[in-house]
Amino acid sequence: MTMNSTMLDVRALNKIYGSGPKQLEAIRDLTFTIGKGELVCIVGPSGAGKTTLLKCIAGLLRPTAGSVVLEGAPVTGPPPGMAVVFQEYGRSLFPWMTVRQNVEQPLKERRIPRAERTQRVDDALAAVSLADVPDSYPWQLSGGMQQRVAIARAVASEPHVLLMDEPFAAVDAQTRADLEDLVRTLWRRLNMTILFITHDIDESVYLAERVLVLSGRPTVVMEDVHIDLPESRSQLETRSTARFAELRTHVYSLIQRAKAHAQDQPQKTPGANPERAVV
Ligand code: ADP
Repeated sequence: MTMNSTMLDVRALNKIYGSGPKQLEAIRDLTFTIGKGELVCIVGPSGAGKTTLLKCIAGLLRPTAGSVVLEGAPVTGPPPGMAVVFQEYGRSLFPWMTVRQNVEQPLKERRIPRAERTQRVDDALAAVSLADVPDSYPWQLSGGMQQRVAIARAVASEPHVLLMDEPFAAVDAQTRADLEDLVRTLWRRLNMTILFITHDIDESVYLAERVLVLSGRPTVVMEDVHIDLPESRSQLETRSTARFAELRTHVYSLIQRAKAHAQDQPQKTPGANPERAVV
């Protein structure tokens, strides 16, 4: 039996910011697909257009050319089956609402009946181990706990696809490791497709089934790396295996190449400009 199991199809995506002499080609040509239920990390040097790509996928930014198709439908605005977790949890939660109210708000906006809302919020808070603080305010919680509230809010909407943009960049190392394990646990339990953007190579290898390595700007996919680590992972054991080390070295060397290439860019541009060629 063959089934179309494509969740997300990004085809010849191109994004140019601005116009005229100030225009900047953030993404040159990105093509990839993500299957239903996959956990994929996108990694690339800073400025490679990762956030730009995520905004195009989330329907928050219109690409200059190319297309994003989610579950067979072209993305032209925020798609209903998608939730996004950003890095800045502090700014994404409402400080005047309790934990419970923050998680419940998007469900209210979607007019989900009260009894179901309560159930979903309870389940989501339990899933991120925050069942005991529903009446706290975000500012009373640690950074890691706040980010778990943001994850609970995303999960409560039962998304088909969860996009995460550097969600753990602002928390300490121990919390980050716990949150990484939380993402894998939720992924295995809830059958979601997850697209996780990071500039942390170890994080990408530890989390993903596939790592898409982006080049420096103007951006293309350098390599689609299959992560053949066991499905059940642990911070201590997985990270100390020989295979983990091989994979991280491989991704690391790709990123180094991407950076070296990106550093070439400014030298090429003046050379192509007749006014500067004499220098
Ligand atoms: P990354 O997330 O990989 O660090 P970004 O997508 O944030 O990369 O940015 C890619 C490039 O596009 C950068 O050079 C950035 O300065 C530029 N850029 C991002 N947003 C805008 C914008 N709104 N207008 C102009 N340039 C932008």
